[in-house]
Amino acid sequence: MAFAGFPSRLPQVGTTIFTVMSRLAAAHGAINLSQGFPDFSPPPRLAERVAHHMAAGGNQYAPMAGALPLREAIAEKVAALYGARYDVEAEITVTAGATQGIFTAIAACVRPGDEVIVFAPVYDSYVPAIELNGGKAVFATLRFPDYLPDWDEVRALINPRTRLIVINTPHNPSGAVWSAADLAALEALVRDSGIVVLADEVHEHMVFDGARHESVARYPALAERSFVVSSFGKTYHITGWKIAYCLAPRELMAEFRKAHQFIVFAVNHPAQLALADFMREDPGFAAALADFYRGKRDFLRAQLAGSRFELLPCAGTYFQLARYAAISAEPDTAFAQRLTREHGVATIPVSVFYPGGDDHRVVRFCFAKNEATLAAAGERLRAL
Ligand code: GLN
Repeated sequence: MAFAGFPSRLPQVGTTIFTVMSRLAAAHGAINLSQGFPDFSPPPRLAERVAHHMAAGGNQYAPMAGALPLREAIAEKVAALYGARYDVEAEITVTAGATQGIFTAIAACVRPGDEVIVFAPVYDSYVPAIELNGGKAVFATLRFPDYLPDWDEVRALINPRTRLIVINTPHNPSGAVWSAADLAALEALVRDSGIVVLADEVHEHMVFDGARHESVARYPALAERSFVVSSFGKTYHITGWKIAYCLAPRELMAEFRKAHQFIVFAVNHPAQLALADFMREDPGFAAALADFYRGKRDFLRAQLAGSRFELLPCAGTYFQLARYAAISAEPDTAFAQRLTREHGVATIPVSVFYPGGDDHRVVRFCFAKNEATLAAAGERLRAL
């Protein structure tokens, strides 16, 4: 079949790198350290609770905003961790994954002609979401090699058309973690403006080496103008369940829900009820995640220690960046493809997250894997 001449609304966009690389990994039987997902199981108790709720009748539409017990569990968690009180009825919405939450927040506030500041390297869903809603992405830089923002640069990008600033900490793909000083700088920039903040905090429980996650929810002057998106997929090893949530003050959340109800309406009901049970029964699970993933980070770093990869710092997330300039002069996309095809390890090339394709010869490894997987990859990578 063919339908020629249909004018694309996203002419610059191809298929997301995560799908491209996972597909290539499968085609070549490569160890897949590209797309971020665990190769181990969620806690068995969580699956048991899904089965329970399916048997017990939780099989019809969830409430549009999310199952009440889950919203209650989220409110308790956020209050305990960040001291922020979000109203269960009006200020918390469960979404079908963080990507939907981010898209919906953008759809709820970006109008044609609005400018949205994003930070490059930028997670690949933000700019298409901005453009589909008629906005224009304006790029601030996370400076190589520490991938932290330059607040003077951000200040210079703000103008009366700036509607939204999208931030992401811990940062994907770099693993950089913003400090309290970064949040304070952001707060000072947006205070007394009409600018909304969208904080992608899906890796909130993966911050290492004694640092703490600086959620915008900790800072009342930021929280009052912010959407905060987090993810159950990352925290409970269930990326395939596609469940996340958004927090926002009631005026913003009312607008969010106007869009949410017609984008997805509601989210998988038994899974929500199971998550609510599990969060109640095992509140320590999320708190233990940082140590769990720090161990995996250190294991992967030890695997690569004898290689020609140069490891960049990893302060958070389950991603490790590495420079391969000592191995090859190829562009990172070519290197990542060849690494998959010829050496059997799939990674994500970082240049795809820059509007201009900036190439620092860096690839991203996902270490949310069993030690056997990381060891097998390490053996292949040390041979390069
Ligand atoms: N967040 C995941 C990653 O960075 C990808 C999610 C997706 O493929 N949509 O690897």
